[in-house]
Amino acid sequence: MAKQTIANRTKTAVGGAERIDLRSIRNFAASLSGDVIVPGDHRYSQARRVWNHAVNVHPAIIARCANTQDVVRTVEFARRYGLLTALRSGGHSFAGHAVCEGGMVIDLSSMKRSWIDPLRKFITIETGVIAGELDCLTQAFKLAIPLGSCPSVGVAGYSLGGGEGSLTPNFGYGCDSITRLEVVTADSRVQVASAQENTDLFWAMRGAGANFGVATSIEFQLHPVETVLSGHLKYPLRQAKRILRFLAEYAPAIPNELFLIAAVLPYPGDRMLDVAVVWSGKEKAGERVLRPLRTFLKPFEDSIKVNPYLEEQRSGTGTPAEGDYSSHRKSGHFDQLTADVIDVIADYTHSAPSEASGISIIYWHGPWCSGSHDNAFGFRRTGFEYWIHTYWKKSGERKRSWEWVEQFYAAMKPLSTGAVYVNGLEDEGDERVVSSYGSKYARLTGIKREYDPDNFFRVNQNIKPAP
Ligand SMILES: Cc1cc2nc3c(=O)[nH]c(=O)nc-3n(C[C@H](O)[C@H](O)[C@H](O)COP(=O)(O)OP(=O)(O)OC[C@H]3O[C@@H](n4cnc5c(N)ncnc54)[C@H](O)[C@@H]3O)c2cc1C
Repeated sequence: MAKQTIANRTKTAVGGAERIDLRSIRNFAASLSGDVIVPGDHRYSQARRVWNHAVNVHPAIIARCANTQDVVRTVEFARRYGLLTALRSGGHSFAGHAVCEGGMVIDLSSMKRSWIDPLRKFITIETGVIAGELDCLTQAFKLAIPLGSCPSVGVAGYSLGGGEGSLTPNFGYGCDSITRLEVVTADSRVQVASAQENTDLFWAMRGAGANFGVATSIEFQLHPVETVLSGHLKYPLRQAKRILRFLAEYAPAIPNELFLIAAVLPYPGDRMLDVAVVWSGKEKAGERVLRPLRTFLKPFEDSIKVNPYLEEQRSGTGTPAEGDYSSHRKSGHFDQLTADVIDVIADYTHSAPSEASGISIIYWHGPWCSGSHDNAFGFRRTGFEYWIHTYWKKSGERKRSWEWVEQFYAAMKPLSTGAVYVNGLEDEGDERVVSSYGSKYARLTGIKREYDPDNFFRVNQNIKPAP
């Protein structure tokens, strides 16, 4: 169908550094096992869409790759014609880095083959697999990888940028469980990265993976997880200050098994403070640890109970995961939930422009959130990660929502450490990318020079090749 659409067109209409004749595009499409979608194809408007509807760009060619050879051919083609090139796995990057204006999209979303070895506890996935699919597969064997709980986020985007989730305090970030990758690099070679082969590439892909090539498959070590003690405590927003003051004391003393997130979220007709917990240790110990939190102030809802891990992952976080939403967010990190931080949070959440405007705060702690671990992930910080978020559907709501996030963030900035999670960024400039990698940035620029000296992979949180 796509090949017909290309054939029926009469003009060369593809952007990029050079114009491309239609015969070349037809030949390229014919060389793939997968498919090519161009403007005019009835699937185009859907295929160019990403999770954040505020991103509205028009790629020239979307190559739906079916296998590694398709990716190799697409990289070769894009290089030959000097096309700006984006990589798409789950399409959930806040910045919309899965698409680019007038360029090539290497769309991996059809590549979903997976191989699991439950005895050795390893899984290899192709990089079109999304988190909900992975969780179903691994939980069939009572195994898991630490990743977030939005089922439609790509496993590649999660884990190559970090991969924070409720199992992180226990088992690390998603990138910490990667044991091997197959990568198509900027010279269109297929390379293996592991602890034995291309060790610099292996180090860099785990935390900064969007910058060094197209990961076509990823092998992960799996962890045994069956049930968790988890749920939500919900409070009216007017009680937020009291709860946050309590969390300021409670959070720094919690054991490694506890994942803790507090968020101002919509509640029908209003908003609320939602404190969500996931305890991945022994149930009795979890009950003891959670008792002070559950009894400090009576919530209007307490849903904490033992849940199959898969059910917990599916229960969502209150963030609009799918649908026609535009979004804006700003994130950061502070060491302590001080009185000043609490005041700023209370002030801005009370003046929020819409129900869908709020803030989420995760307390990171334990061995995976500090110290040096041997990969590129740059946000191992004990303390509180936060993101201020807003969502809107009608374009008229954009300005007020956007400005509220900016003003709220400006008030938080002096109270923040400057550290930020790379997957939490929108397009915010080089300085924020450098902050997200901290002391690891210098080494990354050297590896970038080695594997991608022309910065072919630059539709991402970009690391510039060292001179
Ligand atoms: C609703 C929602 C909930 C979220 N929850 C969490 C959470 O709980 N924990 C968390 O850690 N993060 C979370 N995130 C952030 C998420 O980690 C990032 O947005 C992630 O980059 C999205 O990955 P993706 O594959 O879906 O996106 P895409 O937009 O397809 O890709 C994201 C980036 O990865 C690159 N990339 C994609 N595929 C490949 C590949 N195969 N090889 C190399 N680079 C590739 C792209 O170039 C792009 O720069 C959430 C995001 C959303 C929208």
